[in-house]
Amino acid sequence: MGEVLLKEMECPVCMQYMVPPIKLCTNGHNICRKCRERVQLCPTCRAKFSEIRNVVLENIARSQNYPCANRQSGCLEVFSIEHIAEHQAVCVCGKIKCPFKLNKNCSWDGFKSDLKEHAKAAHTAYLFELSSFHSSLFEDRIMNLFSCFGELFVQYKRIRDGRLYCAVQLIGTSSEASKYKCAFTLRAANGIEQISNTLFVRSYSEDFETISNSGKCLCLDEAVIRHYFEENKLNLTVTLSTV
Ligand SMILES: [Zn+2]
Ligand SMILES: [Zn+2]
Ligand SMILES: [Zn+2]
Ligand SMILES: [Zn+2]
Repeated sequence: MGEVLLKEMECPVCMQYMVPPIKLCTNGHNICRKCRERVQLCPTCRAKFSEIRNVVLENIARSQNYPCANRQSGCLEVFSIEHIAEHQAVCVCGKIKCPFKLNKNCSWDGFKSDLKEHAKAAHTAYLFELSSFHSSLFEDRIMNLFSCFGELFVQYKRIRDGRLYCAVQLIGTSSEASKYKCAFTLRAANGIEQISNTLFVRSYSEDFETISNSGKCLCLDEAVIRHYFEENKLNLTVTLSTV
């Protein structure tokens, strides 16, 4: 795609490439879907928005490949409009935010290749070089980082409205994440009863709320979970493996 056209595809507010539906203001300026939900008036001319969509631009958006925003830093990959944002969230040439931003307010951002070193220095108690682990804390906002298969995985646990949510995400795209599965096994103290649930690993480019709201993670009622406690600890094993 030419530079001029690429520029036209950028949202005037967030500067990201616009993904359909692309709405117009009454004077014909474009805005991306996410920014349209956040602003009342057109940021370019202060006019109101209409419900009219820029169908021509939407068709162009769907038919083109977009270069990664990190091409100055050496990423030469191109993606369709549906996949560009996801790639950029985990691109090895771009900066990513430390996962511990979510529960420890860590403000580190840097290259994906430096995250493990950062975690060693700053979150060593939560970094494990294993593919199978015991996850016994029954507390809200517990995060662990796992280094295995040459990749980094984030495990995050939340307890909300009497339910436990637990997801494992690869610091990578969803197509990379779909190469891994994770088995959650809860064992009761009697050594007989157990619950097993095997799910695909999710991508770190998806946020935890979206994953937990769509049921694509372990999700169990606290009443059920309590049956699998041993000395006040959750008897949960998480095992990562390739598909
Ligand atoms: Zn925007
Ligand atoms: Zn306008
Ligand atoms: Zn890239
Ligand atoms: Zn950090």
